[in-house]
Amino acid sequence: MARIQSIRGMNDILPDETPRWQYLEEKVRVLLARYGYREIRFPIVEQTELFKRSIGEVTDIVEKEMYTFEDRNGDSLALRPEGTACCVRACEQNGLLHNQQQRLWYQGPMFRHERPQKGRQRQFHQIGVETFGMNGPDIDAELIIMTARLWRELGILDSLTLELNSIGTSESRQAYRQALLGYLSQFESQLDEDSRRRLGSNPLRILDSKVPETQALLKDAPVLSDYLDETSKQHFDGLCARLEAAGVSYRLNTKLVRGLDYYGLTVFEWTTDALGAQGTVCAGGRYDGLVEQLGGKPTPAVGFAMGVERLCLLMEALSVAPETPALADVYMVAIGDAAELAALTLAEKLRDQLSVNVLLNCGGGSFKSQFKKADKSGAAVALVLAEDELASGKVAVKALRDADKAQQTIMLDEVADMLRQQYFSN
Ligand code: ATP
Ligand code: MG
Repeated sequence: MARIQSIRGMNDILPDETPRWQYLEEKVRVLLARYGYREIRFPIVEQTELFKRSIGEVTDIVEKEMYTFEDRNGDSLALRPEGTACCVRACEQNGLLHNQQQRLWYQGPMFRHERPQKGRQRQFHQIGVETFGMNGPDIDAELIIMTARLWRELGILDSLTLELNSIGTSESRQAYRQALLGYLSQFESQLDEDSRRRLGSNPLRILDSKVPETQALLKDAPVLSDYLDETSKQHFDGLCARLEAAGVSYRLNTKLVRGLDYYGLTVFEWTTDALGAQGTVCAGGRYDGLVEQLGGKPTPAVGFAMGVERLCLLMEALSVAPETPALADVYMVAIGDAAELAALTLAEKLRDQLSVNVLLNCGGGSFKSQFKKADKSGAAVALVLAEDELASGKVAVKALRDADKAQQTIMLDEVADMLRQQYFSN
């Protein structure tokens, strides 16, 4: 029978790769706690309308990338393409935004129907951070400084560039929109199809176009920074001053707009050359209008999301990930029913008394085959339970990585102490 394959662009993360993921996730978890962020979890499926209303109808995500389906009730649902809208929905619905500040984070799979390639999947994973109720550049700065610390701790900071821009208040963007429209209309026929369509609906998104001909046309286009009003400028200057004070360097990128509609003022991306075309590992910005847009009270908000696959690829490319830990510290070898039972009990006892990983041989096998597995497990020591020694309450102890350590036979109830003293003293 034909084998059933996974869905294109939706990858398995195999046991050899999970240590890198766990290492990254643990670093993030500890770091976020140090800044006072709390985890929130929300469903993977939401009403399609949530994303249409937040991300925007005229965006790549909503136009082309969303996994939308009708459920059995005929409701239109979508696999979440990102977390911000879900987070706002969850906070709003549960009263977390009422007269309060929130510093939150989440992690999990996101779904976008894109062309799969290196660093681009259809199911990918994000770790996202969102804050609510703080309107100053201080919190924008905190988020960025926090990410810089994470990159430093992961050993990838030197390969990353912080790209920063302000896309201004909605008044500023309105003025700029007109100017950009005026400029681009002259070249309408030369624009790529998507951009031509966006001319009428969302011209700022054209700045983000990946089509080289369109980018060439944009060379002499009006620049957003020339249209920033006083409020926008003050916010941006405040952010830049704080980044400088914290020693976080950045590159101004006046074309950075981000692919989602809800952003205003601060936008930023961390990018690298080390991953080819999919070089953005983390992206975010301020979205003061979104909560209201989704039916809540006006609430200042700023956040970002990092792409876990791309960060793992970068860690791999730079060889900064930790070595895969050994599967076990102790391997239990046993032959015969009584010995197997004794091995099981001893393994439980060792797990009670020592903080070591104990791998119990299951499924029988000769001494030779069990020792082969013991060796492969990476364990430092094998405990050998055999009928004759067991009869006198004894167990053989064999070092697996240290040729200088002689094999010894000791009493069962001395094993824990011996292991603690001779093998796992630190
Ligand atoms: P891109 O320009 O690469 O398509 P984006 O602007 O669509 O990215 P965001 O919506 O800002 O991405 O998501 C934040 C981060 O999530 C990205 O910077 C990236 O690291 C990661 N990401 C987004 N889409 C994918 C994907 N299809 N596969 C893997 N990672 C992704
Ligand atoms: Mg995208």
